Amino acid sequence: MAKTKINVLSDEVIGKISAGEVVERPASVVKELIENSIDAGADSIDIEIQEAGTSLIRVADNGEGMTEDDAKLSCMRHTTSKIKDAVNLYNIRTLGFRGEALASIAAVSRMDIITCTGGDDPATKLYLESGEILESMPAGRVRGMTIEVKNLFYNIPVRRKFLRKKATELAAVIDTVGRFILSFPDIDIKLSHDGKELLHATRDMGLEQRIQLILGGDVSGEMVDIALSEGDYTLSGYISRPSSTRKDKQAQMFFVNNRFVRSKALSDALSEAYRSLLERGRYPSAVLFLGLDPGEIDVNVHPTKLQVKFEDERAVKNVISEAVKVKFEQIKTKTSREKGISLPEEFREPENAARGDIAEVQTEFDYEAAGTPAPDNVPLAPEKAIFQLGNCYIVEINKNHLKVTDQHAAHERILYEFFSKAKVNHAPDVQNLLFPIQLELTASEQATMGKLLDDFRGLGFQIEPFGSRSYVVQSIPAVLKDSDVADVIRNVLLDMSQADLAKTDVID
Ligand code: ADP
Ligand code: MG
Repeated sequence: MAKTKINVLSDEVIGKISAGEVVERPASVVKELIENSIDAGADSIDIEIQEAGTSLIRVADNGEGMTEDDAKLSCMRHTTSKIKDAVNLYNIRTLGFRGEALASIAAVSRMDIITCTGGDDPATKLYLESGEILESMPAGRVRGMTIEVKNLFYNIPVRRKFLRKKATELAAVIDTVGRFILSFPDIDIKLSHDGKELLHATRDMGLEQRIQLILGGDVSGEMVDIALSEGDYTLSGYISRPSSTRKDKQAQMFFVNNRFVRSKALSDALSEAYRSLLERGRYPSAVLFLGLDPGEIDVNVHPTKLQVKFEDERAVKNVISEAVKVKFEQIKTKTSREKGISLPEEFREPENAARGDIAEVQTEFDYEAAGTPAPDNVPLAPEKAIFQLGNCYIVEINKNHLKVTDQHAAHERILYEFFSKAKVNHAPDVQNLLFPIQLELTASEQATMGKLLDDFRGLGFQIEPFGSRSYVVQSIPAVLKDSDVADVIRNVLLDMSQADLAKTDVID
């Protein structure tokens, strides 16, 4: 036979390739292992990592465990106890089902499994390298499973090299664990890093307390609970009041049948529900749980199941907007009953200039002289008028032209110019705050803040730690005196945790 160009790949290569889909970074290992613990019925999960998970990830649970034979099978590709055939695929109630995670993780690490089913079966310990079982021996352990993943990607140097900075990987792990803490309030979940406890949600903490643990008091303190059940759908959770929004969607978390998902459909639905109550570029915070018939979603569209496809996206959107509407109506009537006024300020639309107001009206044209009553904010045929519309635009009317400036964009530009100069001059003007701002960070923001404190200080922010995740801002660069300082700081933390920028770019 002539030489062929097509090769049949070895199992080792296949293993490494498919591992790449499931195991992207330490956080994805943590996610898969926690899912397994939950599927095994554990109500206590202890996660310990070292060096942001690059040297060690250890997950110990008190679930149903495995026998020696099952443990050996579990590390092979496409082995699962959760489904039997294709029929099951559309009625999945466990978090896992593909039978790929353990095999994939094993393929790219050194792995120890110690597990016991309790009862009469003895505990087993397996040791694997690159997916191959090298040792199997009896061990001592109570019911449950402990899995240790060491030197992740030690056999795929490129992957190891492309891991982000430790702070970034750690933040991703914290985010991952945080999502389980929110969606499984009956499970005791603990995370430690390099021997230091970062998160611990005990079983007696309700959802509200868990939200506070994960998102910090600043966000959770401004949230209200919502609940609605309609037809096949149930929606529950917490959403922010319209007055307390953020510039990013970091504090929006959606869970579908208790599985964390990223969903543009859900996030759009939420924004639409707030629609006229939000300024442009502001987003509500939310921790929302949507429950529906598993047959109505496809969780099999994404290797790590981060995305889902809804059979009836419109119905889902409707449920969200309905629930938000109902809640806000309740708040409105409640407040108006209590205070005897019509609408709480936060529920008035910015278009009505309730929040923005007209900051200044400069006009060379005298109203009064015209003798005509003018509408509130529209000067009649002025020679020249400048006013602020809503809280967003500066409108300049001249005899024959109209100029609209996006105020936020303009402001950002000014700030950018300032900081670029600060980079060269190294001496920004500092404004001391009469009332220091207290800031409570989310768990992952905190991880980034640790690394950035000095950079902030170099720019004129005097930020001091104040309790475990709280900071006090005592001074700020003078140019920011009219900005929402907490917002600016959060944005920098977000950018830095996502884009793994070089240090000098912090300033930009
Ligand atoms: P999947 O979760 O998709 O079934 P995995 O590769 O993650 O695939 O796990 C394979 C099997 O190993 C699971 O189906 C389960 O039976 C078993 N298993 C994995 N982790 C645990 C655990 N922590 N406790 C008990 N059994 C487990
Ligand atoms: Mg699994």
